[in-house]
Amino acid sequence: MMRNHGRLVLVPCPYQGHISPMLQLGTCLQSLGFSVTVVQTNYNSPKHLNHPNLTFLSIPDGLSDDEISSGYHTSLVLAINVNCLAPLEECLVRMMKNQQPHEELVGVIYDELMYFAEVVANRLELPSIIFRTNNAATFRSRDFLLQLMIGGHLPFSDSASQELVPGHYPLKFKDLPISNFGISENILQALTNMRNIRTSSAVIWNTTDSLEESPLAQIKQECPVPIFSVGPIHKFDTAASSSSLLEEDTSCITWLDKQARKSVIYISLGSLASMNVSDFSEMAWGLANSRQLFLWVVRPGSVIGSEWVESLTNDYKEAVQSRGCIVQWAPQKQVLRHEAVGLFWTHCGWNSTLESICEGVPMICSPFFGDQKVTARYVSEVWRVGTHMENKWERGEIEKIIRMLMADDEGEETRQRAIDLKNKVEACAREGGSSYNSVKKLVDFIMSLKL
Ligand code: UDP
Repeated sequence: MMRNHGRLVLVPCPYQGHISPMLQLGTCLQSLGFSVTVVQTNYNSPKHLNHPNLTFLSIPDGLSDDEISSGYHTSLVLAINVNCLAPLEECLVRMMKNQQPHEELVGVIYDELMYFAEVVANRLELPSIIFRTNNAATFRSRDFLLQLMIGGHLPFSDSASQELVPGHYPLKFKDLPISNFGISENILQALTNMRNIRTSSAVIWNTTDSLEESPLAQIKQECPVPIFSVGPIHKFDTAASSSSLLEEDTSCITWLDKQARKSVIYISLGSLASMNVSDFSEMAWGLANSRQLFLWVVRPGSVIGSEWVESLTNDYKEAVQSRGCIVQWAPQKQVLRHEAVGLFWTHCGWNSTLESICEGVPMICSPFFGDQKVTARYVSEVWRVGTHMENKWERGEIEKIIRMLMADDEGEETRQRAIDLKNKVEACAREGGSSYNSVKKLVDFIMSLKL
């Protein structure tokens, strides 16, 4: 029986793209000998039953229904950082009072956006570690953005938007993660707090040297504490349980089982992005006219002004017939792993991108906001495993890109590079690989923090 290294408290940020990697990290550390407690907000709390090896505790987040429905995510995150400080402290004090000698609290790992957890850890004299769920290139580009903001150089002109960002090749100014969430003072505050190491002892990063050698090396040079790049963290999640906040429709796997190898394009734009009806219609007709099979996730509410897919006409349904399967939410990792899937049309959220890379599936990149634009540029121009759809969505162009990546000789090099990249990233998660070694070093490091 493995010795218990003590208990870790994990504080995820309550959004899908942050919860999943944090729970994957938790499961990984649990399998390596730690007890793990996840302290979550009431807002967007994950389903406990899927994670029997983790303990979950809820703290009140004080968010009103109006705040939640406002769509100002930066403001929500800032409010959580204020409202949850005292409840987290009370929660940890209670835990420490009742802890068993072999399950002593050894540290707090918090999402970079949940920096109130560091204040609490510090007050209770517990070590804390930051978990960054995004890529290193985004972190560096946020730094650049911060300099522009502080220097009063925002917004930049239309002509500048096409220019390369100095020192950040191949990013262009238009790729910088200027979020449309909330107002700019809020963004400035969130960005500043997110990058500050404070008294934390280390940074865990869901990325890998094999994808981001150069941005990681630059960050490591400047960072005063050790960095553990353990990505793709889902590769170390031995339980591989779902962390979906929405119900996964598994009927799409049965549908995929009936399709030929690499014959299906999978489309999903993640948990937050939304589009107007006109783009939705171009997307629908582009898919139909490509004459390829498709599995399409349309999240309820993601088409502005519609509940779901009611804007699709009978003509459309007749045109696609059984060539398409539309669901509200899919078991995405399982879908990407399925041999019938040959292409992923994605918004380039970092988790989706890593999941696609790990399965060797080439991508069409349609970033919406924030980090997605940085990642899309890396997918298309650094790793070259996808095509960036930069123009306004138009059915003719969509049809052409799908055919090129799915069927034409022109797409063969991209398809091959996607397989090569998968092999490279898989190697870092295998015994002796850089992320594998990083996970082992992280465990030793946490043990060394014990007083
Ligand atoms: N996801 C899923 N089913 C879907 C769509 C997305 O399970 O139908 C998961 C996906 O596997 C990924 C996460 O939701 O792990 C989305 O995170 P990402 O960082 O890609 O984008 P975000 O939602 O943060 O924009």
